[in-house]
Amino acid sequence: MKRIRIGIIICDRYRRCAGGKCFRSLRDREGAFTEYKNMAVEIAGYTNCDGCPGGNIEYAVDEMMKNGVTVIHLATGLIVGYPPCPSIPVFSDFIKVKYGIEVVYGTHPIPQKYFIMHDQLGTWRDPEWGKIIQPALTDEKMRMAYD
Ligand code: SF4
Repeated sequence: MKRIRIGIIICDRYRRCAGGKCFRSLRDREGAFTEYKNMAVEIAGYTNCDGCPGGNIEYAVDEMMKNGVTVIHLATGLIVGYPPCPSIPVFSDFIKVKYGIEVVYGTHPIPQKYFIMHDQLGTWRDPEWGKIIQPALTDEKMRMAYD
């Protein structure tokens, strides 16, 4: 079985988060972790961005790669907060260009309460956001399970 090590970077606004939904969804291969259904996955790095404008992005990935991380997940919290992180595409481009590793938008499924609110706000109507939310969007039943 293929083995992979991933790193998760969360939004500093959720800095006290113990990672409950991220760890659960990885265990059950849900949300942005669906792709890992037939792989053994280890979370080898977990940190936050250190607050706006996200200075830790510049350093954390280097440390994670030393522990064998080959994919960085920008956590679902960056996508669902009010407002969502305005720098998420910049973080993704920066990590890919500087470190040459894969970046995935999201971790656990988007909780339904956030989906409803952002739908009302029109946050994700922009095509760029439409792409960003895809891995963690799932369906209503799954979103309800993460409310
Ligand atoms: S909004 Fe973005 S830059 Fe600001 S704390 Fe959250 S992840 Fe970091």
